[in-house]
Amino acid sequence: MTEQTDTEFWAQALAEDTAARGKQADPSACGTCRGRVANGEQVVHDECAQRATLLPAPDAPDYELILEMTEEQRAALPPRFHTPVFMDSSTPTMWVCAVCWGESWTTQWPCAAACQNGTRVFTSEHLARTAAKRQEAVLAQAQADAAEARARVAEVKGELVAAKERHQEGLRRADERLREMNAELQRYAEGTEAPVLWSVYNKMHGRAATAEARVAQLERELKKYVGAEPTVAEEMAYLSSCLDAVRDLCDEAEQRALRWEQPLPVPEWVSEVRKAAEGLVERRTYPPALPWAALMDDEDLHDFLGDLINALHSDRPTLDVLAEVEKTCASHRAIAEAQHAHNTAPGPSTE
Ligand SMILES: [Zn+2]
Ligand SMILES: [Zn+2]
Repeated sequence: MTEQTDTEFWAQALAEDTAARGKQADPSACGTCRGRVANGEQVVHDECAQRATLLPAPDAPDYELILEMTEEQRAALPPRFHTPVFMDSSTPTMWVCAVCWGESWTTQWPCAAACQNGTRVFTSEHLARTAAKRQEAVLAQAQADAAEARARVAEVKGELVAAKERHQEGLRRADERLREMNAELQRYAEGTEAPVLWSVYNKMHGRAATAEARVAQLERELKKYVGAEPTVAEEMAYLSSCLDAVRDLCDEAEQRALRWEQPLPVPEWVSEVRKAAEGLVERRTYPPALPWAALMDDEDLHDFLGDLINALHSDRPTLDVLAEVEKTCASHRAIAEAQHAHNTAPGPSTE
């Protein structure tokens, strides 16, 4: 590299560096400069550019404490407290040591302790940055933990609210049911309405009462007959008295005929009836098999005989035909007797 190109290289590097300066604003920068920095431009005022930061050690002793210290105590203070403080009220203005001072005296910085200890007074920026990053990491973790904790708290709160709502819903339903039951009970008590259950109950009660009364009536009816059936001896006695009456009637007819001096002939039926009463007459005729059929009018009789013919004209087994004939007779007998009862019943009028 020639001397000429070397000079040009450094001139160019210097120009680039100058052009890149002032693109970070100091916290005390004016609005104009902050706006320019935000747009990637340089600050207008040099004092608005980011400057070196002077941070005293966090455990540095207070102004009042230093004033009360002895000279030996001040000299024994650790090097990190011997930082510069700018005195702009003095003439000339100057940098003085933060701790090497007393009543009516100061020490220009760097004091003897600062000169002796050099880097033990300040912490270099890269160490500070590393520490800051560690702190940021710790802070981020703490914030994440806090966020997680808040999320969990919110979740638990949500669960609590849901549980409360479920509980209240349950209470509300129970309350509603209770009110419904109370209202129902009230209606029953007042009788202002006819609740379905009561109407059903009353109906059932009415039916039960009717059935009970009917049963009681049937039982009373039954009692009249239970144990009151006529015995065979009683029936025999009754039949004997009937026969006696028949014989008496025969005797009376005979005596009436014979009481005259010139007796009349005893009626012929007397001896016949006597024989019958003594059981000496063999029965030659039977009573009609279908006396009820004689009660029918022509039309009913015609129907009955038609049905009977239909029942007889069947290819079925004879026992089945007989059953059909019985059935036909039974149904027509019911009709015939009902019709006869109707025809012969006394009318409602008194004529
Ligand atoms: Zn400015
Ligand atoms: Zn000092």
